[in-house]
Amino acid sequence: MSQKLTSAQIRQSFIDFFSEMGHTIVPSASLVPGDDQTLLFTNAGMVQFKDVFLGTDRRPYTRAVNSQKCMRVAGKHNDLDDVGRDDTHHTFFEMLGNWSFGDYYKKEAIAWAWMLLTDVWGLPKDKLWATCFYDDKGNVPKDDEAAEAWLKQPGFIPEHVLYFGRKDNFWEMAETGPCGPNSEIHLDRGEQYCDKQDVPGHVCQVNGDCTRFLELWNLVFIQYNRLRPTQLEPLPATHVDTGMGFERIVSVLQDVDSNYRTDLLWPLIQTTQQLSGQTDSEREANFTPYRVISDHVRSAVFLIADGVVPGNLGRNYVVRMIIRRAYRFGGKLGLHEPFIAKVAEQMFPIYGDFFPELKRNRKAILNSITREEEQFQRTLERANANLENLLDELQASGRTFLSGEQAADLYTTYGMPLEITRDIAREHGLEVDEVGFKRSMDEHRMASNAGKVMGPIGGEDVDTYRALVTELEGEGKIPPTGVTYDPYSRLQVDGAVLGLIVDSRSVPQADPGSAVEVILPDTCFYIESGGQVSDTGLITSKGGNWSIQVDEMRKPAAGVIVHTGKVLRGTPRVGDLATAEVNTIRRRDIMRNHTATHLLHAELRRVLGEHARQAGSLVAPERLRFDFTHPEAVTPDQLAEIEAGVNQHILGNFSLNINYKPLQQAIHEGAMALFGEKYTETVRTITIGGLDPFSYELCGGTHVDETGDIGLCLITSEGSVASGIRRIEAVTGRGAYALVQHRFHLMHQTTAILGASHDQLPEKAKAMMDELSEIRKQVTILRQNLVTAEFNQVLDQTQELNQVRLLTATLTEADADTLRQMVDRFRQRFPNDGVVVLASVHDGRPTLIAAVTDDLVKRGINAGNLVKFVAAPLGGGGGGNPTLAQAGGKDSSKLPQALASVAGWVTEHLK
Ligand SMILES: [Zn+2]
Ligand SMILES: [Zn+2]
Repeated sequence: MSQKLTSAQIRQSFIDFFSEMGHTIVPSASLVPGDDQTLLFTNAGMVQFKDVFLGTDRRPYTRAVNSQKCMRVAGKHNDLDDVGRDDTHHTFFEMLGNWSFGDYYKKEAIAWAWMLLTDVWGLPKDKLWATCFYDDKGNVPKDDEAAEAWLKQPGFIPEHVLYFGRKDNFWEMAETGPCGPNSEIHLDRGEQYCDKQDVPGHVCQVNGDCTRFLELWNLVFIQYNRLRPTQLEPLPATHVDTGMGFERIVSVLQDVDSNYRTDLLWPLIQTTQQLSGQTDSEREANFTPYRVISDHVRSAVFLIADGVVPGNLGRNYVVRMIIRRAYRFGGKLGLHEPFIAKVAEQMFPIYGDFFPELKRNRKAILNSITREEEQFQRTLERANANLENLLDELQASGRTFLSGEQAADLYTTYGMPLEITRDIAREHGLEVDEVGFKRSMDEHRMASNAGKVMGPIGGEDVDTYRALVTELEGEGKIPPTGVTYDPYSRLQVDGAVLGLIVDSRSVPQADPGSAVEVILPDTCFYIESGGQVSDTGLITSKGGNWSIQVDEMRKPAAGVIVHTGKVLRGTPRVGDLATAEVNTIRRRDIMRNHTATHLLHAELRRVLGEHARQAGSLVAPERLRFDFTHPEAVTPDQLAEIEAGVNQHILGNFSLNINYKPLQQAIHEGAMALFGEKYTETVRTITIGGLDPFSYELCGGTHVDETGDIGLCLITSEGSVASGIRRIEAVTGRGAYALVQHRFHLMHQTTAILGASHDQLPEKAKAMMDELSEIRKQVTILRQNLVTAEFNQVLDQTQELNQVRLLTATLTEADADTLRQMVDRFRQRFPNDGVVVLASVHDGRPTLIAAVTDDLVKRGINAGNLVKFVAAPLGGGGGGNPTLAQAGGKDSSKLPQALASVAGWVTEHLK
């Protein structure tokens, strides 16, 4: 190595090398797996290619090279616990890979790996070792093919091929499915890198337990399909899947002993150090916070760039947790104000060129982080004292565990993430009962979605479809690229029925009334994607003797599209000529709504700011729904401005420009891509606005020709769906017209009832409301007068009881205020020796007020006790002070008896 390469140069040289070897450069998939419900985050390079290996997806290339963004922070692969403790674990990392899909195999993969490592990067040949597979269980053949390929490499030392068993050298995607042997390349960094030199009897070795040998690269050769634990069958085509940890190769090529000291993370650490004001030796003495902060900040930036904002569930919880954890580790360096955005700033020069989503969302990322820190600052203030007390108590009582319930309580009450509670507990030498925590959280019904989205892979029997497609391809009935899919240029298409599927079985004919799936050579029905729902319609035989209603569209395996529905009449047979026709009225409604979402997206960004990005959508015939990132409610004024802007674009009657171009080009031109969406190499772009377009999106949906076709767009609601995510619902075209008509109808009815013209309506309604409130006031006064008159009568009916004046009475329809006024009148009349209990019933629920004059309190009569005694049989309770107390009840039927019992109570308690 003559001079040290930068990390950007290293990544680029990997990609350039394989690109020259005929590999297509594939951009990293989003950290949010697009269509994989089994994963919380993309955690390996192969995630975006899994379906290619499984045979349910095809790509226009057979060789690919990429650098994939990965997160391992939850689920089976969870490295969070190790982050900060050592120099090699990260929550976020990049995986470099080259891929062969039924193209080249072991010979080429090994030769290229050797060439890149030794010729291009100049690693010493005598320090490289290769491992190959030898089945310790004796079921699978030894991988001599790979070993022989290694021995052929120029300068490779023959003794450096080693064999290892299943644990190290056999790769499986899952319990069943594609699998095969792998071959790893290890680098001997020299004795000085061994961390076990002082251990007696220690021997440094490949796959050993010290840090001298580094695994650099794993080449996986997929050649089998595992049917069951003991049965493998050879795959018709073999594949190559390689993975090289980017951070690790950078540390090797930059000759540093820690991933954190590479130029990927060091600038973040330096900024943190500047903010903390620590010296270099202070930093080295306490390096853990620096590792945690730089690692977590990097993850947070990448996650938010992919649309994952801080929140309480699933992925959103993870980004919240790592920001909070980084903030807390800042506290250990004396940083007690939000500081992470300043560290995060370093990310953009390091990563922004290769991952343009970072630069595009820079402001939103930084704002989101700072907001989360501010929120957590408040949380910490409240929760910390509580937690410290808890921990002190535990230590004092000699216990070593914080209970799961206590940890769950800290989370549900204060928003203190478990991971942080655990950090704090550990600093006190205590652990947290995490099993108990999960149980408690389940009980709180607030458990993270993380568990729910983890399920078995696949789940559908794709074999039926795959077999059928293979057969149809063999017969030349469909091209190798599969069924033709073009929902854009026509709404009707003719063809012979290629397949009928009933109950997951391919059948020659389907009975009337049966649920059926139909395969045609060509379809114009849209398949649900990008939020737009599937088309519905009708398939009719050429002769007209049968018809099938299509309710849903699906793509169950690569190359196959099925129309799902029901046989309305007749008996459809395979081979029959038929016409498939989309429900056109419904489809036009959908197209209007889809184009309107693009206009809405553009207006949201114009009015609210660039941070307002699409976070999901539903495009249905009757309405559209659009979710976007925005921290607070959209004000009525902003909403009106957005709606007006959308309608201005509609009136502008702009043509939609639809183009196909390479994904990278579209992204560089600034097209809006949806996070979590899996894009192909060639993408469809929709531009609106003529020469100076205001909307440019990647989109596979169906659209109107000109914006004027939308007619009108009305926003019907705006609200929150999750922390930091807002939702707008709207209607267009026929839906908007129906809404206007409906509103007009209501207005006509109202004008008729109020006897006012349309223009006078608000004024008239206001006048009536004023009048009503005036009348209510008068009613109140009248009612009080009535009660007073009634009360004046009952005042004369006081009982005399051992020289005590006692009054119990029920007044008609009096509220608590009125009752209190009446009680005051009683006390004015009888300033001494008086006890009064007044009741009133409203909506069947009694209210009670008791009052006692001061002198009687001294003699044992307490208004609070008295009112409780009276309210008890009414199913209620209450309280107050010794002279005045109030109570409510549920059951007024016992009121007369309860009031009658007052005299006995007074006699009993009077001293
Ligand atoms: Zn060693
Ligand atoms: Zn779209």
